[in-house]
Amino acid sequence: MDQQTPDPAGAENLVCSRCGTVAEGAPPTWTCSVENGVRRYFCDSCARENIRAIEGRLDSPWW
Ligand SMILES: [Zn+2]
Repeated sequence: MDQQTPDPAGAENLVCSRCGTVAEGAPPTWTCSVENGVRRYFCDSCARENIRAIEGRLDSPWW
């Protein structure tokens, strides 16, 4: 087994930032949110729950 074999381009696994589900590649149903320069991914089910938080963050008060 050669574990140093590089993964094919774009085959990095995504981990849901909310429930920890791991997906291979980039599932089109997943939501990507960039926060402070860090990409966060949410699976489709979590995205539904999280979209409100993501959108809500846009007009959350700064004070
Ligand atoms: Zn999830």
